[in-house]
Amino acid sequence: MSPPKTRAAGSSNQPAAPKAALPVVLDLGGRLVVAVGGGPVSARRVRAFLDERAVVRVVTPWLCEDLRDLADAGRVEWVERDYVGPSDLDGAWLVHTATGEPSVDREVAADAEALRLWCIDATDAAATSASMTARADVTTPDGRVTVSAYAAGDPGLAVTVRDGVEQAIATGGLDLRRTRTHGRKGWVALVGGGPGIDGLLTTRGRELLASADVVVVDRLAPRAVVDRLPASVRVIDVGKTPGNHPVPQSRINDILVEEAQRGFGVVRLKGGDPYVLGRGGEERDACEAHGIPVEVVSGVTSAISVPAAAGIPVTHRGVARGFSVVTGHEDIPALPTGGDHTLVLLMGVTQLHRTTDLLVAHGRSADCPVAVVERGYQPDQRTTVGTVATIADLAAERGVRAPAVIVVGDVVRLSPEWPSARPSA
Ligand code: SAH
Repeated sequence: MSPPKTRAAGSSNQPAAPKAALPVVLDLGGRLVVAVGGGPVSARRVRAFLDERAVVRVVTPWLCEDLRDLADAGRVEWVERDYVGPSDLDGAWLVHTATGEPSVDREVAADAEALRLWCIDATDAAATSASMTARADVTTPDGRVTVSAYAAGDPGLAVTVRDGVEQAIATGGLDLRRTRTHGRKGWVALVGGGPGIDGLLTTRGRELLASADVVVVDRLAPRAVVDRLPASVRVIDVGKTPGNHPVPQSRINDILVEEAQRGFGVVRLKGGDPYVLGRGGEERDACEAHGIPVEVVSGVTSAISVPAAAGIPVTHRGVARGFSVVTGHEDIPALPTGGDHTLVLLMGVTQLHRTTDLLVAHGRSADCPVAVVERGYQPDQRTTVGTVATIADLAAERGVRAPAVIVVGDVVRLSPEWPSARPSA
């Protein structure tokens, strides 16, 4: 009854040739997979088959908890008994066996072989006719990539390689731009670059930079990352420097739209977080108005991280329970005035005299501690501390310049720069 074997038999006198291992992808959607065995290995694989939208029949007298949940939810058909023979494989496209009983797994595999069904025998790596691979799915702006690694007899090695590829993509070590072809649809990603050092750029941000053809960059974005981009990447600097005329926001919006319309992948690399006083919402709206897909990647905002770099937590148990982040003066009258509410001011250096006057006029104590942190995370980071009454003059004396974050509130006392924190003479 059994069909003729078409596999060539190896000569027993020769050393075993490495097992043939042709990687393929199977579309299991709507197709029946029979899994024999009810333990955790079976459960893990059944989940993988279900993720591929397979129809799954499980043949086993008992189920581990994971599989029982799936059976209770009606996601798998459960044939509640021992494996009886080829009739259990009726209609299957693929068979998986992991009964924990080598003789049963061998029988299932032999029955599958006779029916010319591929069978994954989880307990016999040498005999199995099909194998699972170590797998990872990576979402790139141009589509999803499935990474699949196989090492005969060494699943640990396959996992290590899979993880390595995944990490190379995540850290930008794999340059995905080379795979871009003409006719692709352009896209824009608004990426928060953090306060200016490599380490505080998110892995998603790096992934997108590894795919971008064009990078539109701010002055306060992490420049070292930009400098390391391959020469084929076009960098458009729209950095605003005081005194220099900045590229107007409407022109930045146009650049993003135009480049994406030409089919390029565009990363708009911004300082801090795109949505914290960063006009990210406007850029997103401009792209969406032209039907361009936009991904927004949050970043580490300077409003929290730059104070942290100076040893100041924006909230601290027993000291401050909340904080506000503002720029212009019009916001000051509405803000809580207590030292237990931290005020973080961005883009505020040139107006510091007026700001402190307004704070006092609207109820802040003149004794409230203030810190000005310049060039956070840069080698020449500098912190100046004082009070609402003294800080503006101190800052002028020391020649404090932008970029700087101003912190107002009792949390400033936690900075190592605060006088009482220093060992007394
Ligand atoms: N979206 C950004 C803020 C943009 S406004 C964010 O979330 O961080 C620009 C202001 O941010 C600067 O004027 C300054 O107040 C602050 N800033 C950004 N990076 C800084 C840094 N490394 N050091 C000090 N201030 C910084």
